Amino acid sequence: MQRISLAIHGGAGTILKTDITPELEKAYLQGLQDALTAGYALLEQGGSATDAVTLTVEILENNILFNAGCGAVFTKDGTHEMDAAIMSGKDLSAGAVAGVSNIRNPVALATAIMRNSDHVFLSGKGAYDFAMNQGIATAPEDYFFSQFRYDQWMQIRNSDTYALDHSKESELIVEVKDKKFGTVGAAACDGEGNIAAATSTGGMTNKKYGRIGDTPMIGAGTYANNNTCAISCTGHGELFIRAVAAYDVSCLMEYKGLSLEAAMNEVVNNKLVKILGEGGMVGVDAAGNVALIFNSEGMYRGAKSSDGTSFVRIYKEE
Ligand code: ASP
Repeated sequence: MQRISLAIHGGAGTILKTDITPELEKAYLQGLQDALTAGYALLEQGGSATDAVTLTVEILENNILFNAGCGAVFTKDGTHEMDAAIMSGKDLSAGAVAGVSNIRNPVALATAIMRNSDHVFLSGKGAYDFAMNQGIATAPEDYFFSQFRYDQWMQIRNSDTYALDHSKESELIVEVKDKKFGTVGAAACDGEGNIAAATSTGGMTNKKYGRIGDTPMIGAGTYANNNTCAISCTGHGELFIRAVAAYDVSCLMEYKGLSLEAAMNEVVNNKLVKILGEGGMVGVDAAGNVALIFNSEGMYRGAKSSDGTSFVRIYKEE
């Protein structure tokens, strides 16, 4: 019988138990659980992998704790510019959006691009115009505001540095070792053995020049192919782009016959480590196998499968 599975993440990085209050820890775990439960319920009801990853990522975008949608980080100009992507492993269709503002759920826009346009990747004002054409929900700037991200931005807004989200001041500079990433993503395998992945992010605090990370780039931060895997990444985007991380997992499976877990392990713990690419990824294959691999201290993550797997976790040692 076809196994159904869902794997999710809410970002990776230097996430240490000693840095998080019990209340915040509980809130993160609850946020992950809510998304996992809703996405898995859709799969159980016969929903498609693409619908399940869209719904799951929307729920994480709506949670202010994560750096996507509501709660996205601030740019150098004090705005929010968000990126998202989705890919269907069934027919290799894909949709992606970069540098959009005032879109309530960027993943919904990526899904509309995949389903209702001749294109894969739209950016900026054009993407916004397409969203209006599709009736995609918008929100005013203050909907995306969070005090925590604002305080982070205030610490570095007058500098030329840019930073990974929700780090402490001492950790804010991108060159320093300690970093955290709050991008969200999901990979799902549905009852028909189709797989899909979706990822969404606000990018990096104080980013400028229209900086785009790996999240919306098909093959870098997001990829899906029924013959191999569906992957959603989180981490230092520049390195994931250079490693073509998500597609590299697929290539190792397709051309070298590696299992999902072995291929992800090779990319995350060998290839990315060699270029100091900190972060992680979640993945599924068409048999419903699930893997969640990261080379950082922690990764907000969870998985649920019809084989009985069900967990949400944060730290490495669990
Ligand atoms: N990968 C994202 C980026 O570089 C950041 C993250 O994962 O939090 O934009």
